[in-house]
Amino acid sequence: MDYGRIFNFNAGPAALPQPVLERIRDEFLNFKGSGMSILEVSHRSKWFDEVIEQAKASIKRLLTVPDNFSILFLQGGASMQFCMVPMNLLPADQSADYVNTGTWSTKAIKEAKILGRQVKVIASSEDRNFCYIPKDIPVSKDAAYVHITSNNTIKGTQWAKFPDTGAVPIISDMSSDILSRPVPVERFGLIYAGAQKNLGPAGVTLVIIRNDMLERVPASLPSMLKYTTFSESNSMYNTPPCFAIYTVAKVCQWLEEDIGGLAKMEEINRKKADLLYGFFDSSSFYKGTADTDSRSLMNVTFRLPSEDLEKEFVAQATKAGLGGLKGHRSVGGCRASIYNPTGIEGVQALVDFMKEFEKKA
Ligand SMILES: *Cc1c(COP(=O)(O)O)cnc(C)c1O
Repeated sequence: MDYGRIFNFNAGPAALPQPVLERIRDEFLNFKGSGMSILEVSHRSKWFDEVIEQAKASIKRLLTVPDNFSILFLQGGASMQFCMVPMNLLPADQSADYVNTGTWSTKAIKEAKILGRQVKVIASSEDRNFCYIPKDIPVSKDAAYVHITSNNTIKGTQWAKFPDTGAVPIISDMSSDILSRPVPVERFGLIYAGAQKNLGPAGVTLVIIRNDMLERVPASLPSMLKYTTFSESNSMYNTPPCFAIYTVAKVCQWLEEDIGGLAKMEEINRKKADLLYGFFDSSSFYKGTADTDSRSLMNVTFRLPSEDLEKEFVAQATKAGLGGLKGHRSVGGCRASIYNPTGIEGVQALVDFMKEFEKKA
């Protein structure tokens, strides 16, 4: 059925798979014979219990999360993790390494510093406006952790491979590329992701934490700021964001059953990105802003010959049913976010539009 939906290239909140939206619609008024909407059932009911268990089991299967990790659902967005990570995992007498690859890394560093923690920025791509992922990552042997941002939503760069950090656990903000490709979870101490880019709606943050990291959590923290509060209560110390978790479960089911897992998802994502970047490489009108070896498969940032043309491009694209192509307000230019739900036909429609626009310009 045609709902008049556009090709949605928003960076976040972003497009969701249409089958997921339809499945939610279909059971919206009476969830599994409960006589209630999923919005109306208790989080202590068997109905919600099944939902949260399904979400966790599905994430565990998709990412092959080892048994010594816990999967948690928190609130406060990825931004809350910028402070929770150092509060919980960085003792005052230790230092943590951070790699600065853009706006979100910068914010993570800022929060750790506000707390008065010792932070060492061991690598940065600030010298060229964050258009690349640094290659030399000199990890401090005694660091509490190394913090990276796996995909830089605003600058359009992504770690193709994760750095070798020896025994030092990697902590990654994966808000904008979670579940877009397989990840060696066993190499991480903690992974976090706000759901609204690639996982579901705004309102829930996924945290995957290695259980021994939980031993670092100081007893002195307020309950709501401790990872242990959530690991010990199956993320239900207080009322969780039920509907957001339910939607995440549906998105995961779509990834497993409709797509066929993360290796397959990565293959599709790579085809989509190749189509767009391949087009840039053959054009002198559109220019990608990220270095070739650091290009993001999720957020494709590009420029046109002038800011006036960029404005016109975004306006005409919107009229043509291609939405969300304006770059982040802090950097300008254009950006096409092509997360999991965006099909190859959406990217093809964008390339076709770009060719037409160039002809007329
Ligand atoms: C969007 C985004 C954030 C901020 O997420 P909130 O949930 O709004 O706090 C942090 N990191 C990355 C990589 C993002 O893309």
